Amino acid sequence: MAIGEHRPTQLVIDRQALRQNIHAEVERLTPGCDLFMVVKANGYGHGAVQVAQAAKDAGARGFCVAILDEALELRAAGFNEPILILGVTSPADAPLMAKEHISATVAAMDWLTEAESYLNLAGTPAPLRVHLGLDTGMGRIGFRNAPDLVAAVDYLTSHATEFEFEGVFTHFSTADDPDDTYFKQQFAKWQTLTKALPRRPRYVHVSNSATSLWHAACNDNLVRYGVAGYGLNPSGTAIQEPFHLQPALSLTSELVYTKRLAAGESVSYGATYTAKEAEWVGTVPIGYADGYERRLQGFHVLVDGQPCEIIGRVCMDQLMVRLPHNCPRGTKVTLIGKDGDQEITLQDVATYCGTIHYEIACGFTSRLPRRYI
Ligand code: PLP
Repeated sequence: MAIGEHRPTQLVIDRQALRQNIHAEVERLTPGCDLFMVVKANGYGHGAVQVAQAAKDAGARGFCVAILDEALELRAAGFNEPILILGVTSPADAPLMAKEHISATVAAMDWLTEAESYLNLAGTPAPLRVHLGLDTGMGRIGFRNAPDLVAAVDYLTSHATEFEFEGVFTHFSTADDPDDTYFKQQFAKWQTLTKALPRRPRYVHVSNSATSLWHAACNDNLVRYGVAGYGLNPSGTAIQEPFHLQPALSLTSELVYTKRLAAGESVSYGATYTAKEAEWVGTVPIGYADGYERRLQGFHVLVDGQPCEIIGRVCMDQLMVRLPHNCPRGTKVTLIGKDGDQEITLQDVATYCGTIHYEIACGFTSRLPRRYI
């Protein structure tokens, strides 16, 4: 997709905010506990390589990604730190991961036996680093009982040329929920499963942002820090964050066209909005093809710091807003972020769309240029 370099619409990413959020968490961790920054999905839309650099500067010791290509992107950018792929990879890619010192999440025994044959075919460039994933209640991937887990560890031990047992982890599904009943059940299952381990690997980890912020006692020696590093409260608004998180992402544009509508004239597809009286209307060059959702009709943006309603349907590339008065072409429009004493947060946008800020941040398409300050 072409990047809109010649259009005044952009995502602005504040590297100082990223560093501040990540460093604040690094400082809270007990000695011996590392932080790996989660930079999957292009750093939650913020730019994986730039976020990884900011995280490294702030004290992160490694990175987590979702897929192999994201790990390779970091290696190509020159990062030599540990990288853990959180999702299931193909056993056929075991030699590539081993060669690049990228750690694989393993969730089943048959993955190991298949990967072993690929590693041997390739001459085992280096032992493949393995983190065993445990399903303690997330219901996504992972070993679910002690005998299967112990069999996998024994297999890793007896195939030390091909594999290094580097980590074991689980993922909580309700760490961001004020009700910790299910969290406690998952943690109890985690304790039962890990008690059965014949030996303890280098990394033992359970914590995403929410767990580290609100259940830090469970952290063990590694935190997989994601959304809070971007300055976003993992719970949305359900639980107060223990320290200030500074949102790193803003979305800005400009008015490219204004006009005065007469009463009775309509705006955008479907003519769903009709002016009741004469009013000024501005056009902003952003639409759902940029990830600014069609559902945002009726929401607002800041025009020169003043909230203005989005009228009519959001188009693929443009949207219209009602202005308090005529504003010159080029007037600043803030779709996410602060202008003066007004602010629109990713959470505000997500709430309006009936979703979570994670989805909005990841949904910004590559047509939007990312500018780093
Ligand atoms: N660990 C795992 C296994 C994940 O899937 C994720 C994100 O989805 C994270 C850590 C980071 O979570 P968060 O962004 O909520 O910190």
